[in-house]
Amino acid sequence: NKALRKAIIAGNWKMNKNRKEAAELINALKPIAADKTCGVIICVPFTNLETALSLTEGTNIEVGAENVHFEKSGAFTGEISADMLTEMGVKYVIVGHSERRQYFGETDETVNKRTTAAIEAGMTVILCVGETLAERELGITEEVVAKQVKVALHGLTADQVKNIVIAYEPVWAIGTGKTATAEQAEEVCAFIRATVASLYDQAIANGMTIQYGGSMNEKNCAELLAKENIDGGLIGGASLVAEKFGVLLAEA
Ligand code: PGA
Repeated sequence: NKALRKAIIAGNWKMNKNRKEAAELINALKPIAADKTCGVIICVPFTNLETALSLTEGTNIEVGAENVHFEKSGAFTGEISADMLTEMGVKYVIVGHSERRQYFGETDETVNKRTTAAIEAGMTVILCVGETLAERELGITEEVVAKQVKVALHGLTADQVKNIVIAYEPVWAIGTGKTATAEQAEEVCAFIRATVASLYDQAIANGMTIQYGGSMNEKNCAELLAKENIDGGLIGGASLVAEKFGVLLAEA
């Protein structure tokens, strides 16, 4: 089954890199990524999208945004619509990252709206889900993740769901240096796949790329990426250094 799916390594730059630094990182990444067989995406701040799109033209590096608003246009100061992104040539977007949920009031409902808007605009969505440490300790990881997945995908057709990648990112592992063990990550990724199968069908679930994210780096990636249900990663810190990101691309 794993062989049927596309492994994707996606970088999440978060609020890092000015334009000059972005150009340097992308130029260093290009030769490293060139011979790799996995999908390669870099999700960059809005201000770097233009730079990233022009520097990656004709390469195997795809460009994504880190968020998108759900309204088409109007009085939403500071927001960016899916049409604005696709018009630039941006085909990928992260939705529902735990930092958006924690610091910017994102809920399962707004994650659903943003996901739907991006999919309707023809984008591929990297949908982030994951439990907090308190939720894991309470033993409600599966309940939390199932609800996040169900609500986020609510109203999407089977055809639309083919353009969704799910990233399982336990909140306690993000930026903390505390990676989930390969077994913990595999367990939840398999659970997410089963949840998708119950919402749609087994074929859709089998074809879906499900990533792990949370302190995944050049040292711990091999074990995680070898797991049956882990089809790549969403990478924060280690995506900011070309050589480190290169190791992840080689392993996927
Ligand atoms: P991290 O971030 O790799 O720095 O833990 C992952 C993410 O937030 O997507």
